[in-house]
Amino acid sequence: MAGMHDWTEETDALAEQVIAYARARTRLDPIPLNAPRTSEELDSICGQTITADGIGGPRALELFADVLEPASLSVDYTKYLSFVPAAPTEAAVLFDLVVGACSIYGGSWLEGSGAIWAENQALDWVRSIAGMPEGTGGVFVPGGTIGNLAAMVAARHSAQTTRPDPGSPWAFLVSAEAHSSVKAAAQVMGADVIAVETDEQRRLAGPAVERALAEHGDRVCGVVATSGTTNLGVVDDLATLGPVCRAADIWLHVDGAYGGAALATERTRPLFAGLEHADSFIVDPHKWLFAPFDCCALLYRDPDAARAIHAQHAGYLAFLDAYGDWNPSDFAIHLTRRVRGLPFWFSLATHGTDAYAEAVDITLDLAAYAADAISRLDYVELAHEPSLSVVAFRRIGWTAEEYQAWTEATLEAGLAFVTPSRLDRAPIFRFCFVNPRTTTAEIDEILSALA
Ligand SMILES: *Cc1c(COP(=O)(O)O)cnc(C)c1O
Repeated sequence: MAGMHDWTEETDALAEQVIAYARARTRLDPIPLNAPRTSEELDSICGQTITADGIGGPRALELFADVLEPASLSVDYTKYLSFVPAAPTEAAVLFDLVVGACSIYGGSWLEGSGAIWAENQALDWVRSIAGMPEGTGGVFVPGGTIGNLAAMVAARHSAQTTRPDPGSPWAFLVSAEAHSSVKAAAQVMGADVIAVETDEQRRLAGPAVERALAEHGDRVCGVVATSGTTNLGVVDDLATLGPVCRAADIWLHVDGAYGGAALATERTRPLFAGLEHADSFIVDPHKWLFAPFDCCALLYRDPDAARAIHAQHAGYLAFLDAYGDWNPSDFAIHLTRRVRGLPFWFSLATHGTDAYAEAVDITLDLAAYAADAISRLDYVELAHEPSLSVVAFRRIGWTAEEYQAWTEATLEAGLAFVTPSRLDRAPIFRFCFVNPRTTTAEIDEILSALA
């Protein structure tokens, strides 16, 4: 009898079905929003899927297609404007299938040299648009949370090796607008986070950091700036932060998980002036650079500084150290890794970087259109002038409960996915545009539904 690792006629038929399914989903237009279901509902529809004999591939695929995928939201749905959505290119999605098929271990150069070389070319494009110097390098990690943690661990280690022990936990200076993952990372590290006030444009800037350093300097091991806050798309004042950090010999990490993609176009690149001073930088291609989940580009100005704390050493790994000089496992908290930068690389190589600039431009146009439409309507008002592709606005006169109820109703009706957020403790809505397939007519439709 054939085992589960043998390719049989049945496997062949299953391959046709799986590939046909992936192909059909990739080209689906329009893409449905889908809707969540409760665990009880799914139990009663699907029953027990894990059995001693197996239910068979065709049945499992059928359950996925008919029940499970429809119970999972499509982040590439054109009216999914909550959080930070995603809009992977066809090329990137298709190549993700290839990555899965190839069983490449992405932790060491010995095992993954070809794939890692390609990932490094993609990382180097990110480096070049960020204006960071040659020699900068890093690795693709699962997301901004892990990217921030890895960079902050390297920042603290750098302080530990060059500065006297402060006698209390090391601390990071961050703005109140920093992403929740920065605080989470500090917590994992047992480090402190010191909030620094922002300027009138809600940016973290040099003078405030200088004042905070005067007060807490002995124990500050890094500044975490944000280049594109998740809530409003605000880019911190990197041009004044860089010199302050340099002068104090403090690590500057820049979190561009969402907004870093705006470096791809000349239109918004000037907002990032000063990024060249960063010691580390992240951007999530799975957010606004059209790659599938999960993919965060993590860069270090001095890769050795990251290697010094992140490289794992053991007898069974020593052989890898002797071979090749670029082991991606050395740059974050991981060992085994999927070569998750490859779908991004394949799409970049396929389409060229101009296509990325154009696609980001389209989403910036959508944000400008939405901001303009909002300023013309009398029942909504802008909460903040957009600089990237986030448009934050208020529904005049609504309570937090009304925001919530509207979101639930529109999700249920499959009309849109726009969740409320908060600004200065008051509810707001925000549109986050990362999908070039979204149309201005769809924006009008959502705004009308808010009337
Ligand atoms: C999304 C986001 C993160 C977290 O990234 P994940 O990929 O979700 O882990 C961190 N920082 C900012 C600014 C973000 O927008």
